Amino acid sequence: MRDHIQRTPHPPSNNYVTLSYYQFRPIPQREDLLKIQHYFLNDLRAMDVVGRVYISAEGINAQISCPRDRVEAFKAYYSTNWPIFDKIRFNPAMSEGKAFKKLHVRIKGQLVADGIDNSTFDIDNEPTYLSPEEWHKELSSLATPPILIDMRNHYESSIGHFENAIRPDVTTFKENVDAMLDICKGKEDQEIYMYCTGGIRCTRSGALLKSNGFKTVKTLRGGVTAYGRYIQDQREQQAAADKGEEDVKSIYKGKNFTFDKRLGEPITDEVLAQCHICGTACDTYSNCTNMACNLLMISCPACQQKHQGTCGSGSCVEMVQELNEKQRKIDKDHPGLRGMKARLGIQPFHEHRLRVRPLKVMESRRIKSRL
Ligand SMILES: [Zn+2]
Ligand SMILES: [Zn+2]
Repeated sequence: MRDHIQRTPHPPSNNYVTLSYYQFRPIPQREDLLKIQHYFLNDLRAMDVVGRVYISAEGINAQISCPRDRVEAFKAYYSTNWPIFDKIRFNPAMSEGKAFKKLHVRIKGQLVADGIDNSTFDIDNEPTYLSPEEWHKELSSLATPPILIDMRNHYESSIGHFENAIRPDVTTFKENVDAMLDICKGKEDQEIYMYCTGGIRCTRSGALLKSNGFKTVKTLRGGVTAYGRYIQDQREQQAAADKGEEDVKSIYKGKNFTFDKRLGEPITDEVLAQCHICGTACDTYSNCTNMACNLLMISCPACQQKHQGTCGSGSCVEMVQELNEKQRKIDKDHPGLRGMKARLGIQPFHEHRLRVRPLKVMESRRIKSRL
Protein backbone atom coordinates (compact mmCIF):
# COMPACT_ATOMS: atom_id res chain seq x y z
CA MET A 1 0.00 0.00 0.00
CA ARG A 2 1.28 3.42 -0.89
CA ASP A 3 1.54 6.23 1.65
CA HIS A 4 -1.23 8.74 2.09
CA ILE A 5 -0.50 12.29 1.05
CA GLN A 6 0.53 14.49 3.97
CA ARG A 7 -1.70 17.25 5.21
CA THR A 8 -0.77 20.92 4.85
CA PRO A 9 -2.35 24.09 6.36
CA HIS A 10 -5.73 25.13 4.91
CA PRO A 11 -5.51 27.81 2.23
CA PRO A 12 -7.95 30.79 2.35
CA SER A 13 -11.36 30.05 0.79
CA ASN A 14 -11.10 32.78 -1.87
CA ASN A 15 -8.03 31.05 -3.23
CA TYR A 16 -9.92 28.08 -4.66
CA VAL A 17 -10.98 27.12 -8.14
CA THR A 18 -13.92 24.88 -8.93
CA LEU A 19 -13.57 22.00 -11.37
CA SER A 20 -15.93 19.35 -12.64
CA TYR A 21 -14.94 16.07 -14.27
CA TYR A 22 -16.42 12.69 -15.14
CA GLN A 23 -15.69 9.47 -16.94
CA PHE A 24 -17.80 6.45 -17.76
CA ARG A 25 -15.58 3.49 -16.90
CA PRO A 26 -16.96 0.15 -15.65
CA ILE A 27 -15.91 -0.65 -12.07
CA PRO A 28 -17.97 -3.78 -11.47
CA GLN A 29 -16.47 -4.89 -8.15
CA ARG A 30 -17.94 -3.36 -5.00
CA GLU A 31 -14.61 -3.99 -3.29
CA ASP A 32 -12.82 -1.76 -5.81
CA LEU A 33 -15.36 1.02 -5.29
CA LEU A 34 -14.75 0.88 -1.55
CA LYS A 35 -11.00 1.08 -2.10
CA ILE A 36 -11.36 4.05 -4.43
CA GLN A 37 -13.65 5.77 -1.92
CA HIS A 38 -11.12 5.20 0.86
CA TYR A 39 -8.23 6.64 -1.16
CA PHE A 40 -10.19 9.61 -2.47
CA LEU A 41 -11.36 10.55 1.02
CA ASN A 42 -7.84 10.47 2.39
CA ASP A 43 -5.95 11.94 -0.54
CA LEU A 44 -8.37 14.68 -1.56
CA ARG A 45 -8.80 15.77 2.05
CA ALA A 46 -5.03 15.99 2.38
CA MET A 47 -4.99 18.28 -0.65
CA ASP A 48 -7.72 20.42 1.00
CA VAL A 49 -10.10 19.60 -1.82
CA VAL A 50 -13.83 20.00 -1.03
CA GLY A 51 -16.90 19.05 -3.04
CA ARG A 52 -18.82 15.99 -4.20
CA VAL A 53 -17.26 12.96 -5.78
CA TYR A 54 -19.57 10.18 -6.93
CA ILE A 55 -18.28 6.79 -7.95
CA SER A 56 -20.35 3.88 -9.21
CA ALA A 57 -20.06 0.68 -11.18
CA GLU A 58 -20.36 3.02 -14.21
CA GLY A 59 -17.48 5.37 -13.44
CA ILE A 60 -16.87 8.72 -11.77
CA ASN A 61 -18.60 12.12 -11.66
CA ALA A 62 -17.32 14.99 -9.52
CA GLN A 63 -17.59 18.68 -8.77
CA ILE A 64 -14.88 19.96 -6.48
CA SER A 65 -13.12 23.11 -5.33
CA CYS A 66 -9.33 22.86 -5.17
CA PRO A 67 -6.78 25.32 -3.74
CA ARG A 68 -5.52 27.32 -6.72
CA ASP A 69 -1.86 26.49 -6.16
CA ARG A 70 -2.63 22.76 -6.07
CA VAL A 71 -4.65 22.45 -9.25
CA GLU A 72 -1.73 21.03 -11.21
CA ALA A 73 -0.87 18.61 -8.40
CA PHE A 74 -4.52 17.58 -8.23
CA LYS A 75 -4.65 16.81 -11.94
CA ALA A 76 -1.33 14.96 -11.70
CA TYR A 77 -2.75 12.96 -8.80
CA TYR A 78 -5.28 11.43 -11.17
CA SER A 79 -2.93 10.90 -14.10
CA THR A 80 -0.25 9.25 -11.91
CA ASN A 81 -2.36 7.23 -9.50
CA TRP A 82 -5.50 6.36 -11.42
CA PRO A 83 -4.79 4.96 -14.88
CA ILE A 84 -8.39 3.68 -14.96
CA PHE A 85 -9.54 7.31 -15.14
CA ASP A 86 -7.43 8.15 -18.19
CA LYS A 87 -10.15 10.03 -20.05
CA ILE A 88 -11.01 12.57 -17.38
CA ARG A 89 -11.08 16.17 -18.59
CA PHE A 90 -11.09 18.84 -15.95
CA ASN A 91 -13.67 21.50 -16.64
CA PRO A 92 -13.13 24.78 -14.72
CA ALA A 93 -16.14 26.81 -13.50
CA MET A 94 -16.46 30.49 -14.41
CA SER A 95 -16.35 32.01 -10.95
CA GLU A 96 -13.58 31.46 -8.45
CA GLY A 97 -13.62 30.72 -4.73
CA LYS A 98 -14.70 27.77 -2.64
CA ALA A 99 -18.07 26.46 -3.86
CA PHE A 100 -18.42 23.65 -1.28
CA LYS A 101 -17.93 23.38 2.44
CA LYS A 102 -16.96 19.75 2.84
CA LEU A 103 -15.70 16.76 0.92
CA HIS A 104 -18.11 13.93 0.18
CA VAL A 105 -17.10 10.78 -1.65
CA ARG A 106 -20.16 8.61 -2.25
CA ILE A 107 -20.83 5.30 -3.92
CA LYS A 108 -23.91 5.57 -6.10
CA GLY A 109 -26.06 3.12 -8.02
CA GLN A 110 -26.15 5.12 -11.25
CA LEU A 111 -23.94 8.10 -12.13
CA VAL A 112 -26.81 9.87 -13.83
CA ALA A 113 -30.27 8.65 -12.98
CA ASP A 114 -32.01 7.95 -16.26
CA GLY A 115 -33.22 4.47 -15.39
CA ILE A 116 -31.94 3.10 -18.70
CA ASP A 117 -30.58 -0.41 -18.64
CA ASN A 118 -26.89 -0.22 -19.63
CA SER A 119 -27.16 -3.43 -21.63
CA THR A 120 -29.65 -1.81 -24.04
CA PHE A 121 -27.16 0.64 -25.56
CA ASP A 122 -23.44 1.14 -26.09
CA ILE A 123 -21.95 3.92 -23.96
CA ASP A 124 -18.84 3.86 -26.17
CA ASN A 125 -20.92 4.77 -29.25
CA GLU A 126 -20.14 8.39 -28.45
CA PRO A 127 -21.75 11.51 -29.89
CA THR A 128 -19.52 14.02 -31.71
CA TYR A 129 -17.99 16.44 -29.23
CA LEU A 130 -17.65 20.06 -30.29
CA SER A 131 -15.34 22.39 -28.39
CA PRO A 132 -17.08 25.54 -27.11
CA GLU A 133 -15.49 27.46 -30.00
CA GLU A 134 -16.65 24.93 -32.62
CA TRP A 135 -20.11 24.87 -31.03
CA HIS A 136 -20.30 28.66 -31.06
CA LYS A 137 -19.18 29.01 -34.67
CA GLU A 138 -21.30 26.17 -36.00
CA LEU A 139 -24.52 27.20 -34.29
CA SER A 140 -23.98 30.90 -35.11
CA SER A 141 -23.54 30.12 -38.80
CA LEU A 142 -26.53 27.82 -39.40
CA ALA A 143 -29.11 29.38 -41.72
CA THR A 144 -32.04 27.65 -40.04
CA PRO A 145 -32.27 26.72 -36.37
CA PRO A 146 -31.27 23.06 -35.86
CA ILE A 147 -32.82 20.50 -33.54
CA LEU A 148 -31.13 21.72 -30.37
CA ILE A 149 -32.17 20.05 -27.11
CA ASP A 150 -31.50 21.36 -23.62
CA MET A 151 -30.90 18.18 -21.58
CA ARG A 152 -31.32 19.93 -18.23
CA ASN A 153 -34.32 20.26 -15.90
CA HIS A 154 -36.84 23.11 -15.95
CA TYR A 155 -35.29 24.86 -12.95
CA GLU A 156 -31.94 24.92 -14.75
CA SER A 157 -33.08 25.99 -18.23
CA SER A 158 -35.52 28.60 -16.91
CA ILE A 159 -32.72 30.97 -15.82
CA GLY A 160 -30.54 30.54 -18.91
CA HIS A 161 -30.32 28.59 -22.18
CA PHE A 162 -29.00 28.62 -25.74
CA GLU A 163 -30.97 30.57 -28.35
CA ASN A 164 -33.58 28.44 -30.12
CA ALA A 165 -33.13 25.51 -27.75
CA ILE A 166 -36.00 23.11 -27.15
CA ARG A 167 -36.37 23.05 -23.38
CA PRO A 168 -38.43 20.09 -22.17
CA ASP A 169 -40.55 21.00 -19.13
CA VAL A 170 -39.16 18.23 -16.93
CA THR A 171 -38.01 17.79 -13.36
CA THR A 172 -35.68 14.79 -13.80
CA PHE A 173 -33.13 13.60 -16.31
CA LYS A 174 -35.16 10.43 -16.77
CA GLU A 175 -38.11 12.52 -17.97
CA ASN A 176 -35.80 14.50 -20.23
CA VAL A 177 -34.51 11.35 -21.93
CA ASP A 178 -38.14 10.40 -22.71
CA ALA A 179 -38.78 13.93 -24.02
CA MET A 180 -35.63 13.72 -26.15
CA LEU A 181 -36.73 10.41 -27.70
CA ASP A 182 -40.10 12.01 -28.53
CA ILE A 183 -38.49 15.10 -30.08
CA CYS A 184 -36.10 13.00 -32.17
CA LYS A 185 -38.59 10.38 -33.32
CA GLY A 186 -38.30 9.76 -37.06
CA LYS A 187 -35.39 12.21 -37.40
CA GLU A 188 -32.60 9.63 -37.58
CA ASP A 189 -31.07 11.33 -40.64
CA GLN A 190 -31.10 14.86 -39.25
CA GLU A 191 -28.42 16.54 -37.18
CA ILE A 192 -29.26 16.56 -33.49
CA TYR A 193 -27.52 19.01 -31.14
CA MET A 194 -27.73 18.68 -27.38
CA TYR A 195 -26.15 20.23 -24.31
CA CYS A 196 -26.21 20.04 -20.52
CA THR A 197 -24.30 21.63 -17.62
CA GLY A 198 -21.00 19.76 -17.75
CA GLY A 199 -21.44 17.18 -20.51
CA ILE A 200 -22.12 13.97 -18.59
CA ARG A 201 -25.85 13.80 -19.34
CA CYS A 202 -25.17 14.27 -23.08
CA THR A 203 -22.42 11.64 -23.10
CA ARG A 204 -25.12 9.23 -21.99
CA SER A 205 -28.15 10.43 -23.94
CA GLY A 206 -25.99 11.01 -27.03
CA ALA A 207 -24.75 7.42 -26.90
CA LEU A 208 -28.35 6.27 -26.49
CA LEU A 209 -29.40 8.09 -29.70
CA LYS A 210 -26.35 6.86 -31.61
CA SER A 211 -27.06 3.29 -30.48
CA ASN A 212 -30.60 3.74 -31.81
CA GLY A 213 -29.52 4.58 -35.35
CA PHE A 214 -29.17 8.37 -35.21
CA LYS A 215 -26.37 9.34 -37.58
CA THR A 216 -25.25 12.75 -36.37
CA VAL A 217 -25.49 13.68 -32.72
CA LYS A 218 -23.42 16.67 -31.69
CA THR A 219 -22.83 17.75 -28.14
CA LEU A 220 -21.00 20.57 -26.38
CA ARG A 221 -17.83 19.32 -24.72
CA GLY A 222 -17.77 20.46 -21.10
CA GLY A 223 -21.35 21.72 -21.39
CA VAL A 224 -22.64 25.20 -20.57
CA THR A 225 -19.88 25.58 -17.97
CA ALA A 226 -17.16 25.27 -20.63
CA TYR A 227 -19.08 27.56 -22.98
CA GLY A 228 -19.36 30.20 -20.24
CA ARG A 229 -15.63 29.95 -19.68
CA TYR A 230 -15.01 30.34 -23.43
CA ILE A 231 -17.17 33.50 -23.62
CA GLN A 232 -15.42 34.89 -20.54
CA ASP A 233 -11.99 34.23 -22.11
CA GLN A 234 -13.07 35.87 -25.37
CA ARG A 235 -14.22 38.97 -23.51
CA GLU A 236 -10.98 39.14 -21.51
CA GLN A 237 -8.84 38.74 -24.61
CA GLN A 238 -10.77 41.45 -26.39
CA ALA A 239 -10.49 43.79 -23.44
CA ALA A 240 -6.73 43.15 -23.18
CA ALA A 241 -6.19 43.75 -26.89
CA ASP A 242 -8.46 46.80 -26.65
CA LYS A 243 -9.47 46.28 -30.25
CA GLY A 244 -12.61 48.30 -29.80
CA GLU A 245 -14.45 45.53 -31.59
CA GLU A 246 -17.92 44.49 -30.66
CA ASP A 247 -18.09 42.05 -27.75
CA VAL A 248 -18.19 38.40 -28.72
CA LYS A 249 -21.90 37.68 -28.76
CA SER A 250 -22.85 34.79 -26.52
CA ILE A 251 -25.51 32.55 -28.05
CA TYR A 252 -26.29 31.41 -24.50
CA LYS A 253 -28.51 33.88 -22.65
CA GLY A 254 -28.72 34.33 -18.89
CA LYS A 255 -27.29 32.17 -16.11
CA ASN A 256 -25.77 28.71 -15.88
CA PHE A 257 -27.42 26.85 -12.98
CA THR A 258 -24.69 25.25 -10.84
CA PHE A 259 -24.93 22.41 -8.36
CA ASP A 260 -23.21 24.14 -5.47
CA LYS A 261 -24.02 26.83 -2.95
CA ARG A 262 -23.90 29.53 -5.64
CA LEU A 263 -26.90 27.97 -7.42
CA GLY A 264 -25.86 29.67 -10.68
CA GLU A 265 -23.24 31.78 -12.47
CA PRO A 266 -24.09 34.49 -15.02
CA ILE A 267 -22.93 34.16 -18.64
CA THR A 268 -24.80 37.21 -19.95
CA ASP A 269 -26.67 39.95 -18.07
CA GLU A 270 -30.06 39.00 -19.46
CA VAL A 271 -32.54 38.00 -16.75
CA LEU A 272 -34.85 35.35 -18.18
CA ALA A 273 -36.86 34.34 -15.12
CA GLN A 274 -39.20 35.93 -12.59
CA CYS A 275 -39.48 36.03 -8.82
CA HIS A 276 -41.77 33.16 -7.88
CA ILE A 277 -43.44 35.28 -5.22
CA CYS A 278 -44.08 38.66 -6.89
CA GLY A 279 -43.26 38.10 -10.55
CA THR A 280 -40.59 40.78 -11.06
CA ALA A 281 -37.61 39.91 -13.27
CA CYS A 282 -35.16 37.89 -11.19
CA ASP A 283 -32.96 34.82 -11.61
CA THR A 284 -31.50 34.31 -8.14
CA TYR A 285 -32.26 30.96 -6.59
CA SER A 286 -32.38 30.36 -2.86
CA ASN A 287 -33.98 27.89 -0.52
CA CYS A 288 -36.81 28.81 1.85
CA THR A 289 -35.25 29.63 5.25
CA ASN A 290 -37.78 27.40 7.00
CA MET A 291 -35.71 24.24 6.94
CA ALA A 292 -38.78 22.05 7.10
CA CYS A 293 -39.87 23.58 3.77
CA ASN A 294 -36.53 24.37 2.11
CA LEU A 295 -38.26 25.02 -1.23
CA LEU A 296 -35.86 25.85 -4.04
CA MET A 297 -37.24 29.11 -5.43
CA ILE A 298 -36.40 32.30 -7.25
CA SER A 299 -37.06 35.23 -4.95
CA CYS A 300 -36.17 38.89 -5.44
CA PRO A 301 -34.39 41.00 -2.78
CA ALA A 302 -37.66 42.77 -1.85
CA CYS A 303 -39.47 39.46 -1.28
CA GLN A 304 -36.48 38.06 0.59
CA GLN A 305 -36.76 40.93 3.02
CA LYS A 306 -40.55 41.02 3.21
CA HIS A 307 -40.91 37.29 3.84
CA GLN A 308 -37.73 36.84 5.89
CA GLY A 309 -36.05 34.62 3.33
CA THR A 310 -38.94 32.18 3.22
CA CYS A 311 -41.09 31.14 0.27
CA GLY A 312 -43.79 33.50 1.56
CA SER A 313 -46.21 30.84 2.78
CA GLY A 314 -47.91 31.82 6.04
CA SER A 315 -46.67 28.82 7.96
CA CYS A 316 -43.05 29.33 6.82
CA VAL A 317 -43.06 33.03 7.78
CA GLU A 318 -44.61 32.18 11.16
CA MET A 319 -42.14 29.39 11.82
CA VAL A 320 -39.13 31.56 10.98
CA GLN A 321 -40.47 34.48 13.02
CA GLU A 322 -40.94 32.20 15.99
CA LEU A 323 -37.44 30.77 15.64
CA ASN A 324 -35.94 34.25 15.20
CA GLU A 325 -37.73 35.34 18.37
CA LYS A 326 -36.36 32.35 20.30
CA GLN A 327 -32.90 32.97 18.87
CA ARG A 328 -33.00 36.62 19.97
CA LYS A 329 -33.97 35.50 23.47
CA ILE A 330 -31.11 32.98 23.59
CA ASP A 331 -28.69 35.63 22.32
CA LYS A 332 -29.91 38.02 25.02
CA ASP A 333 -29.82 35.50 27.88
CA HIS A 334 -26.56 33.87 26.82
CA PRO A 335 -24.49 36.53 25.06
CA GLY A 336 -21.51 34.18 25.12
CA LEU A 337 -23.21 31.89 22.62
CA ARG A 338 -23.81 34.63 20.07
CA GLY A 339 -20.74 34.01 17.97
CA MET A 340 -21.43 30.31 17.77
CA LYS A 341 -22.48 28.70 14.56
CA ALA A 342 -25.32 26.60 15.88
CA ARG A 343 -28.51 28.52 15.20
CA LEU A 344 -32.10 27.50 15.55
CA GLY A 345 -32.66 25.97 12.17
CA ILE A 346 -33.16 29.30 10.43
CA GLN A 347 -30.16 29.03 8.18
CA PRO A 348 -31.12 27.82 4.73
CA PHE A 349 -29.19 24.91 3.34
CA HIS A 350 -28.72 24.59 -0.36
CA GLU A 351 -30.51 21.67 -1.89
CA HIS A 352 -30.88 21.70 -5.64
CA ARG A 353 -32.08 18.11 -5.61
CA LEU A 354 -35.42 19.06 -4.16
CA ARG A 355 -37.12 18.83 -7.51
CA VAL A 356 -40.31 20.66 -6.90
CA ARG A 357 -42.09 23.34 -8.84
CA PRO A 358 -42.24 26.43 -6.62
CA LEU A 359 -45.20 27.99 -8.42
CA LYS A 360 -47.26 24.81 -8.05
CA VAL A 361 -46.30 24.39 -4.39
CA MET A 362 -47.12 28.04 -3.63
CA GLU A 363 -50.41 27.85 -5.51
CA SER A 364 -51.51 24.68 -3.71
CA ARG A 365 -50.70 26.29 -0.36
CA ARG A 366 -52.69 29.38 -1.28
CA ILE A 367 -55.64 27.13 -2.15
CA LYS A 368 -55.30 25.22 1.14
CA SER A 369 -55.09 28.44 3.14
CA ARG A 370 -58.41 29.55 1.62
CA LEU A 371 -60.16 26.35 2.63
ZN1 LIG B 1 -40.35 39.18 -5.48
ZN1 LIG C 1 -41.29 27.70 2.71
